[in-house]
Amino acid sequence: MEYLWALLVGLGLAQVATLITTVYLHRVLAHKSIQLHPAATIFMRFGTWMLTSISPREWVAVHRKHHNFSDVEGDPHSPHIEGYWRIMIANVYYYRREANNDNTLEKYAADLPYDRLDKVLLRNGTLGFGLTGVILALLMGLGPGLVALSTLAVVYLLLNAAINGAGHTFGYKSFQNDATNLRLLALITFGEGLHNNHHARPASPKLSAFRGELDPAWPVIRLLVALRLAEVVGKVDEGWENHRRRIPAPTAVGAPTEN
Ligand SMILES: [Zn+2]
Ligand SMILES: [Zn+2]
Repeated sequence: MEYLWALLVGLGLAQVATLITTVYLHRVLAHKSIQLHPAATIFMRFGTWMLTSISPREWVAVHRKHHNFSDVEGDPHSPHIEGYWRIMIANVYYYRREANNDNTLEKYAADLPYDRLDKVLLRNGTLGFGLTGVILALLMGLGPGLVALSTLAVVYLLLNAAINGAGHTFGYKSFQNDATNLRLLALITFGEGLHNNHHARPASPKLSAFRGELDPAWPVIRLLVALRLAEVVGKVDEGWENHRRRIPAPTAVGAPTEN
């Protein structure tokens, strides 16, 4: 029973980590479509450190490079270049390979230099994740604590691999780019599964574009705005041509098509 509980705690933490990733690392830092109140920023920085062990400067640099070279030579993690299963299984390897490249960090994350808090504490991602492990073990016992921590790590890595792998392979396209939309993946990644929409309009703070698509991070962002903890900077629908698709929605064979 306590191991089942540990599994649920791990899944819950993986969702929190995914929410922090899409709101803070992705929409706030990488694309600057949202600004956060300093109190929210500190919460996000410690959340990133303790739940993902990611360096925001590295994540942003790798991600911006991905946008710059989407699915062509130079993309840090393209399933079209490396192969679908390699990205699904070894996404973290491809991420680290690029994150270790100082030139990439200087070129793509010059606006995010390390500050004092990074230098003394947050750059040590292993320490943050280890601290989470210690807290979980103290609260739940060593065995269940380790199960919760492992579940967090495995689920978080899998979801990110799915965005980079499946999100450039399976699903439908509303816009002309190499990424794809997966509604189900969007539900468990706080909207990131709507990856075709995102590549069409990276600066949009909201990832859903059409009826039937749900970006679960958007109501959270609206709540942060209502609490004056966030401000939306990018235009929600800019570039999406009043919600008209650039690629016509597929029609059933024989059905009358619009002209
Ligand atoms: Zn992508
Ligand atoms: Zn992006």
